Amino acid sequence: MKRAYKYRFHPTPEQACELARTFGCVRYVYNKALEMRSRAYTIEGRKVSYVETSATLTAWKRTEGLEFLSEVSSVPLQQALRHLQAAFANFFAKRAKYPVFKSRKKSRASAEYTRSAFRWRDGTLTLAKMDTPLDIVWSRPLPEGAEPSTVTVSRDAAGRWFVSILVEETIRPLEPVDASVGVDAGITSLVTLSTGEKITKPKHERRDRRRLAKAQRDLSRKAKGSNNRAEARLKVARAHARITDRRRDFLHKLTTRLVRENQTVVIEDLTVRNLVKSHNLARAISDASWRELRSMLEYKAAWYGRDLVVIDRWFPSSRLCSACGALQETMPLGVREWTCACGAVHDRDVNAAKNILAVGLAER
Ligand SMILES: [Zn+2]
Repeated sequence: MKRAYKYRFHPTPEQACELARTFGCVRYVYNKALEMRSRAYTIEGRKVSYVETSATLTAWKRTEGLEFLSEVSSVPLQQALRHLQAAFANFFAKRAKYPVFKSRKKSRASAEYTRSAFRWRDGTLTLAKMDTPLDIVWSRPLPEGAEPSTVTVSRDAAGRWFVSILVEETIRPLEPVDASVGVDAGITSLVTLSTGEKITKPKHERRDRRRLAKAQRDLSRKAKGSNNRAEARLKVARAHARITDRRRDFLHKLTTRLVRENQTVVIEDLTVRNLVKSHNLARAISDASWRELRSMLEYKAAWYGRDLVVIDRWFPSSRLCSACGALQETMPLGVREWTCACGAVHDRDVNAAKNILAVGLAER
């Protein structure tokens, strides 16, 4: 199984300069090849292959004015063409929209190096065209004896550098357990479990959100094109990055725990929510959290030999009494607690989570 390990690193000024140039060339080649393929497709009604773009890249390098393309490692440029090929394959298979140009400001700057373009020795990583290894912050170790197959270097909008190292790894499934859990995506808490436990959003989130709102206000007051504006934009990007990082960290801990403790985890399919455009920032973040939570549960369940059951979102989980099965006519959003005719007193979210678990176990 291939698994990516992502770390921050601190480039030397020379490395930063080399990488910035490589990012620029990657973007240039991707956009130029996209333009070429688009023209062939719309004007000549012809599909261009990867091999053809690759041959054209060689020609570009010899073209006057484009010599700068041969000054950086050729591997990330080839990889950019492969990514474009994949984007077109997805488009033709109707899995994705038509590929778009990479923007200097909006796209994430990155470069991908395959085995021939980096050296991995004694736990140090040196990229092509560099004399010194990257100064990586090893926040967790790579698995013993891991051999990286692909390395992706990137820089985010907050100016932080990351290296993602792809390694082949054998993951041993966990010992089977008896427990199962239903997970309800709540309105007040982040998630509620069928065990009755409510998991709330981390406390720091509100403070981080306030900091982001302030940074955004500051940015909106700065004049376009000014130095102050660039600085304010960086502050906004940093505040965003902080929220994303902490959220991901929190979700990793939560999903690892759910998968470790339970043989079966049942959740609702909430993808329909994506169709509703979120105007509200808090809501947009909670939707993003839910998507991320689901995808983490999916791959962790696969790694550790657990079952993830996703049930239809139209199942009336909040209106059904988990004790007697009676269906209530309505259950307005404001009702947090209710008593069924059978006498059972329910917390709205815990009851929903219990129903989700029951349906999931029946479906499985
Ligand atoms: Zn009842």
